[in-house]
Amino acid sequence: MPGARRFSGPIDLHTHSSVSDGTETPAQLVRAAAAAGLGTLALTDHDSTAGWAEASAAARTAGLTLIPGMEFSTRVGFASVHLLAYLFDPSNAGIVAETARVRQARLVRAEQMVARIGVDYALTWADVLEQTTPDATVGRPHIADALVARGLALTRSEAFAGILHWEAGYYQPHYAPDPLRAITLVRAAGGVPVIAHPATRGAMDVIPEAKLARLAEAGLFGLELEHRENKPEAKARLYALAEKYGLFVTGSSDYHGEGKPNRLAENTTAPEVLERIIEQGIGSAPVYG
Ligand code: AMP
Ligand code: ZN
Ligand code: FE
Ligand code: FE
Repeated sequence: MPGARRFSGPIDLHTHSSVSDGTETPAQLVRAAAAAGLGTLALTDHDSTAGWAEASAAARTAGLTLIPGMEFSTRVGFASVHLLAYLFDPSNAGIVAETARVRQARLVRAEQMVARIGVDYALTWADVLEQTTPDATVGRPHIADALVARGLALTRSEAFAGILHWEAGYYQPHYAPDPLRAITLVRAAGGVPVIAHPATRGAMDVIPEAKLARLAEAGLFGLELEHRENKPEAKARLYALAEKYGLFVTGSSDYHGEGKPNRLAENTTAPEVLERIIEQGIGSAPVYG
């Protein structure tokens, strides 16, 4: 039965490559996933689909299933909300325009943060560019790597806990659409939207029930509740809300290579849930390697 073979092995639907802030190229990431014994991997770089072609070719060689995806930056007030999107059409005009706008806003925001940090520490924009793959979606992890290279932090995580923390005084938000708009765009492009790590700050403050109900109505598919950064209490409440609004639950690692402690397949998604994602994802096709 081909279905059974396709989804044999663990399913990890949230990973990053050097196209955004992961430390491995898309091909290296796919090889690492194969070596870790994964059956299915989704590549979900921030606000970019630029890694899909390389990852697809690598998946064919490595013999694993690749679900092309993206982690769309969205925003509710000052809080950043991440939306995983699977199997949408990467050439859809709405998606192309909105992600270009977000990537540009991220770039300007990173330059402004570095200018502020540079007042107090020996850090320049050139240091950050040295840590960034050309055309990558720029984020705080690249600034963190520059801080490490300058000896101003020991690791990415230390930089995030210190200089890059929102309370340290250098943090700045960037433009991102409301999740409602992003969900509408993803569905219009034939994709399947899932809110990433929705319980990281006891996130009921960020997405109250009434808002979640509207997002579900707009086409939200699911919630990524099995993720190491979700807080147990908020997670329990969101499990109940997922049930109430007919949302599916996914689990994934949010692997960033050496850039984060998260390991491949430390959380996984049920094959039945992946089947539904593939049924509903009509903007692009999975790669069965
Ligand atoms: P940004 O979107 O630019 O604000 O940066 C957030 C990104 O940094 C997310 O993709 C996180 O996964 C990543 N990140 C957050 N905390 C850490 C950490 N402690 N170490 C490494 N990466 C992190
Ligand atoms: Zn990231
Ligand atoms: Fe995220
Ligand atoms: Fe992520």
